[in-house]
Amino acid sequence: MLLAVVTLSPLLDAQGIAPSSRRNKNSRIAPDVKHAARSITGREAMEHLRWLADDLREGRLAGSTGASDSAEYIAMRFEEIGVSPAGDNGSWFHNFTIPGRDGVRGSIEKGNRIRLMVSDKATREILLNFRQEFLPHPRSADVDVAAICAFMLDPLETWADRERDPVVGRFAVLPVEQKISDEDLELYCENLKARGAMGLMLVGESCRPSPSEVWPPEDAQDLFVLPVIRVHGAGIAKIWKISGRPLSSWKRQSSDEGAVVMGRPYVVMEVRRDGRDMSLGRNVVGRMPGTDPDLRDEYIVVGAHYDHVGRGKSPGLSRGGASGEIHNGADDNASGVAALLEVAEAYALNRLKTRRTLLFVAFDAEELGLYGSTAFVADGGFDSGSIAGMVNMDMISRNQKRVVKVGRRASDEPLGRIIYEMARLLELEIDETGMDAVLQRSDQAPFLKKGIPSVFFFGGFHEDYHKPTDDVEDVIPVKLQNVARLAFLTSWGLSQMPAQEDEESESADSDR
Ligand SMILES: [Zn+2]
Repeated sequence: MLLAVVTLSPLLDAQGIAPSSRRNKNSRIAPDVKHAARSITGREAMEHLRWLADDLREGRLAGSTGASDSAEYIAMRFEEIGVSPAGDNGSWFHNFTIPGRDGVRGSIEKGNRIRLMVSDKATREILLNFRQEFLPHPRSADVDVAAICAFMLDPLETWADRERDPVVGRFAVLPVEQKISDEDLELYCENLKARGAMGLMLVGESCRPSPSEVWPPEDAQDLFVLPVIRVHGAGIAKIWKISGRPLSSWKRQSSDEGAVVMGRPYVVMEVRRDGRDMSLGRNVVGRMPGTDPDLRDEYIVVGAHYDHVGRGKSPGLSRGGASGEIHNGADDNASGVAALLEVAEAYALNRLKTRRTLLFVAFDAEELGLYGSTAFVADGGFDSGSIAGMVNMDMISRNQKRVVKVGRRASDEPLGRIIYEMARLLELEIDETGMDAVLQRSDQAPFLKKGIPSVFFFGGFHEDYHKPTDDVEDVIPVKLQNVARLAFLTSWGLSQMPAQEDEESESADSDR
């Protein structure tokens, strides 16, 4: 959650008063939905939470590698769960420029990374260390792409059947036993590029750069047509180890067959001569289509922000800790994202059919000023008039297990009824006291501004808020589970609501 309110906005009208207990006959809960709610467990959510709150993510500051890796992790989990990508151009990501970050560049090291995994689904990775284990060639092209590799001994070979050329869409891996001239490398790149390769990895001690080499060189000209990286030192063993076979074995097979596909590693390669672009924000967006022909073009958004405050260096983001200390943000808001993944999974694995379409959105750059949710409402590809409801989770894993703090507008009566009905079903207590004051401080705010009925599920503040001590050990898994189940059932209720016309008599003061 935001440390302070960044925009002045009129006081909203939630009063902390429970709506009348009038039952909505349309939202009776079927057994399969209750079953789906029970499939959400704190234990499973904790796996996601631990990954996001790991020191390797360095506190997930928007624009940083830790945030961008988190976005990829979330997208991969969405894919496994079976929801569809609903970001820009059919991708998982809705990209936006983070305000105030124009032209801000991260370090060269953060912009040049090689990550090795056993597969594209793997949650663990091995990093090649910049300079100690790899360095791009002075004339390397820039790249940001992921692929598996093709091992080869002769980068100039040609394949008559281009379709079957193992190098198509892959990184070419070439073991090097002696220095290769730039002229030869240029030819290799041209041939490999023509064949459809993504890049060239030179692996061997003889391509070790001199310790005084400056990268990127100031005067680089005539860049190669492909990215070329040199792997040396301890990086060499990492490559063969993760490939599952020793170099000798690859050589033997390749001398018989020419280039051969390596099933492992899956390589994520970023080469950026200008360092990392810190202005790129990315929301991760998944969709589960509704089934009612009259309502499936309306959307219910379930959201949680995945960014946090990094090392807390940006002024005003951290409330404590030594300078540069990682703020893991386990509660804020790895907890909400873990719940979001569990909610999406509850829908997909249980094959629930909803009337409206669900959008699962992991927002970026919340801590800097609600930038991800604001960008999503403005140009996420979904007209705000077609968003019928929004459920936000931010900081949901601390304090009393069975009490959920709820922020909302009292005038959104159908939403209020759904929340209280679902809480009763789950035997949870709703607490709306003091929530007016924080209603503008998380990602529901831009939705509320558009008049969209929105709810903020919150676990409450604590001493570790925006401090390095907001860590995994203090998370209460069952609290996370309870809030996630309530968010799931609330989104379900919203997705099944009668069409707007039918509701009008009941919610005359709704401004939509
Ligand atoms: Zn926060």
